[in-house]
Amino acid sequence: IKTIGVLTSGGDAPGMNAAVRAVVRAALKKGMTVYGVKRGYCGLLEDDIEPMDEMSVAGIISRGGTMLYTARSAEFRTEQGVLKAKATCEKYGLEGLVVIGGDGSFRGAADLSAHGILCVGLPGTIDNDIACTDYTIGYDTAMNTAMELMDKLSDTSQSHYRCSVVEVMGRGAGYIALNTGVASGALEIITKEKPYDLDKIAKKMMEFKARGKQNFIIVVAENIGHSEEICKLIQEKTGIESRATILGHVQRGGSPTVRDRVAATEMGYYAVELLEQGIGNRVVGMQGGKIVDFDIQEALSMEKPYDGKLHQIAEDIAF
Ligand code: ATP
Repeated sequence: IKTIGVLTSGGDAPGMNAAVRAVVRAALKKGMTVYGVKRGYCGLLEDDIEPMDEMSVAGIISRGGTMLYTARSAEFRTEQGVLKAKATCEKYGLEGLVVIGGDGSFRGAADLSAHGILCVGLPGTIDNDIACTDYTIGYDTAMNTAMELMDKLSDTSQSHYRCSVVEVMGRGAGYIALNTGVASGALEIITKEKPYDLDKIAKKMMEFKARGKQNFIIVVAENIGHSEEICKLIQEKTGIESRATILGHVQRGGSPTVRDRVAATEMGYYAVELLEQGIGNRVVGMQGGKIVDFDIQEALSMEKPYDGKLHQIAEDIAF
């Protein structure tokens, strides 16, 4: 393979820039020509593509967001859209494409692979909701951001003897909620993976309050239900003043952590190695600390385990 492209697609995640940098530099090192495709698949549909050199990715490893921008494209999901994207790839001589994004982006990559463009997906999402990998680029930074914000909330709820109900991102998956809940010493972690009972939570809070506990953190995963509503019910059931905070998109920004930069760099380099060998229709991941790759369809059909043991530990030691 002589010429490849790289794009970021779906929701952005800190570390996407580090991945783009690794892909560009690895490809150049191997003597390939590299193009940056802007705004995900939209760039292929609208011919928004530019050549990349070593300097195009200088200084971006520490920057959040994505220098290639990202988007969602409805047109690309149609057969006509895929054919148009393929035509753009042919125009620039792109034989391979590295797609940094989530499951939706990988489905698009599989479609394009079926049309002869070798695509390799890199897991770039803060939610860590990609089954074939233990770890996704952006997850660590997002969790650290959420944890720092929860620490601040904990300070103020302590001063006021309050309960803070904190909603974190995750798109329905409870990985961010579970880990940030453990890291911030939450009383309760509410995720879709583990059933919860508000009456039991309220009873526990009142018991702990009677034993001297002054502040309470309850972490709620996004898409569980309305955290405002949960907060209201908790206040009604316990009489403890409660406030809901939805952390929101702030979790998607910021300078990536060491872990995200290193994972992005290793996975980006690996993606180029696959393309160099003429291998496409793969998703790269990390399992047990090792870089691995799977057929895209196989990767999409896998199911990700939830760490029920960690959730149990959090419950056992909560006070
Ligand atoms: P995240 O979940 O982190 O936001 P994602 O990659 O899952 O990332 P999506 O919005 O689902 O985000 O997908 C990104 C883009 O991938 C879509 O805009 C679309 O162009 C393409 N895509 C999504 N689903 C499909 C599909 N089933 N078939 C083909 N292309 C798809």
